[in-house]
Amino acid sequence: MAAIDRFRLDGRVALVSGGSRGLGRVMAGALASAGALVALTARDRHRAEEAAAEVARDTGAEVIGLGVDVTKAAEVEAAVGEAISTLGKLDILINNAGINIRRPIEQLEEAEWDLVLDTNLKGSWLFCRAAVPAMKRNGWGRILNVSSMLGEVGLAERTPYCSSKGGMTLLTRTLALELAPFKINVNALCPGPFATEINLPLLNDPEKKAAMESRLPIGRWGDPEELGPAALFLCSEASSYMTGATLFIDGGFTAQ
Ligand code: NAD
Repeated sequence: MAAIDRFRLDGRVALVSGGSRGLGRVMAGALASAGALVALTARDRHRAEEAAAEVARDTGAEVIGLGVDVTKAAEVEAAVGEAISTLGKLDILINNAGINIRRPIEQLEEAEWDLVLDTNLKGSWLFCRAAVPAMKRNGWGRILNVSSMLGEVGLAERTPYCSSKGGMTLLTRTLALELAPFKINVNALCPGPFATEINLPLLNDPEKKAAMESRLPIGRWGDPEELGPAALFLCSEASSYMTGATLFIDGGFTAQ
């Protein structure tokens, strides 16, 4: 097979959580453009369906939208079931849904810690648990956990976020060991700062925006479109000998 053909996803079915906007939307588009059938999820089913129609229009692929709150086990199970019954099977899972609450530790509520951990870490675990049986049946699978450069290095005033993303890195490694015999590869993608809604508190503050830029060797925030090719690599046959790995797309932040 020619190297470029190893990136094709014809006949594959993918599910992307939190796929109605931001990085999830870009990754859903990248997989669809390579030939995959895609289910993208959002808490609001209507928003998911709208985004799915747009990605389908842009790529020509079949894309469906599903409503699911990733913190709710029953909704996660139902979404995986619906993706399989509508699209036929499930080969690829991208755990992308995530939130951040930034504040000094003594100003954070216990409920805020729970929400960040439940969304980022437990939500990813729930989706893995729901998707693995279908991937085992296929004898092939890819799980991509969207962690963060802040799963590797800390940044002040982000205790719940950094803890959740560090957890996602170890979830990735542990599951990679468990699933390697089934030809299911599990990897983590660790973005640096990208200009999306999750970062509006920084992007809308010129001082904070510039402070982040000054810490980036590449000297600028990431464009969400720069994440798509990396997701495609990790979700395709192009990364067949890679599992339990973390790939940093972070403008060089963690190289320092
Ligand atoms: P975003 O805020 O645009 O996207 C987050 C998505 O998660 C949204 O679609 C949101 O609706 C969804 N979501 C949140 N809580 C949910 C829940 N309970 N159930 C279902 N969906 C839920 O931001 P983004 O930058 O696109 O973030 C995507 C992922 O990338 C997140 O996991 C984030 O932590 C990670 N990440 C982002 C950056 C960055 O700089 N943008 C850096 C590192 C990691």
